[in-house]
Amino acid sequence: MLKEKELLESIETGKKRIPVLLKELIAARTVNPPGNEFLAARIICRELKKHRIKFSKYEKIKGRTNIIAQLGKGSPRLCIACHSDVVPAGENWKTPPFKGVVKNKKMYGRGTEDDKGPLAATLFVLTVLKKFEKEMNGSLIAMFAADEEAGSKLGADYLLKEKKFKADYAIIPDIGSKMEEITIGEKGIMHVLVESIGKQAHGSTPQKGVNAIWNMNAFLNELKKWKMKFKKVKYFSKPTLNIGLIHGGSSFNTVPAKCTTEIDIRYLPGQKAAMLLKEIKAIARKTEKKNKKAKFKIKLIEKQEPFILSQTHPLIKSIKKNTRKVLKKTPRITTSSGTTIAKKFVKRKIYAIGFCPGNNQMHKSNEFIELKQLEQFAKIIALTAKDLLF
Ligand SMILES: [Zn+2]
Repeated sequence: MLKEKELLESIETGKKRIPVLLKELIAARTVNPPGNEFLAARIICRELKKHRIKFSKYEKIKGRTNIIAQLGKGSPRLCIACHSDVVPAGENWKTPPFKGVVKNKKMYGRGTEDDKGPLAATLFVLTVLKKFEKEMNGSLIAMFAADEEAGSKLGADYLLKEKKFKADYAIIPDIGSKMEEITIGEKGIMHVLVESIGKQAHGSTPQKGVNAIWNMNAFLNELKKWKMKFKKVKYFSKPTLNIGLIHGGSSFNTVPAKCTTEIDIRYLPGQKAAMLLKEIKAIARKTEKKNKKAKFKIKLIEKQEPFILSQTHPLIKSIKKNTRKVLKKTPRITTSSGTTIAKKFVKRKIYAIGFCPGNNQMHKSNEFIELKQLEQFAKIIALTAKDLLF
């Protein structure tokens, strides 16, 4: 039987491999768009081959490479879902963003935290556990997905939809920081388009037209007064509404015939998107009544349902226990107002939680990761795999 001591010693002995892999991965420019995840995939495949780990490559579009690696077989199946693309470097870097420069035990570079650091640690854990594969009683699946930063259509979405792998539960090392949190739920998201329809006229004769911008203004004032109904849900903050975009008019001396705005609503389990949409429509009707000739069209562009998972799952218990062991502290249970690929897993009945090293560096300039944290993360996921799959 695999002994904890033996496992931790293997990690200690080999851990220098993590920054080596990470540095290589940072240099593989997988900025999405265009992605080019095949550049990172080359490094990952080479490492997997070297250790004789079973894997498959999947591409919905050439060059946008996804890799699914597997140790052991059958259920239970634990998936660690990482992604290999990154966001653009942006400005104000003190070191070359695609170089992986180490200073004060931290590595700087685009993707060090999001998500190539956790990816390198996961890849390393696979190579360590490979030695004990014969003793496994289940499977460890590592997903190295493309396209996470642009919606996952060519990555996790595609892999899940086309059933390229099976999993019972998953760790998404792409949310939270310092391994202090386990994310077990996410708010839902609604993207709503509001169109104000007016009538065009010359700017010198506004009385002959219907000004779509003034009417939108009236609508937004009503919307601002809206008190969304909701029941408080443990671990969640309140639902929110944001106006993110407004467009209207064609020139300063024309009465605008059209004005559109786009709304972002983050809602709680228990709230229904259909109900919220109905309320927005009611606000539009009310504005139409108050403002003669005002006319609005409301359209739901996209929605993703919220979720909350049980916090007594064996995966949570194991992560808590092992984090205590490695870090001498217990991660707290939390939820997110944002959206990760966890939603896509949960939709397909895979129990998926967020758990991650890092210092909230995602998408920032001078992104870094503390190398110590990657070692600790590797230990925690290796011990968790041991608990659940051996
Ligand atoms: Zn990410």
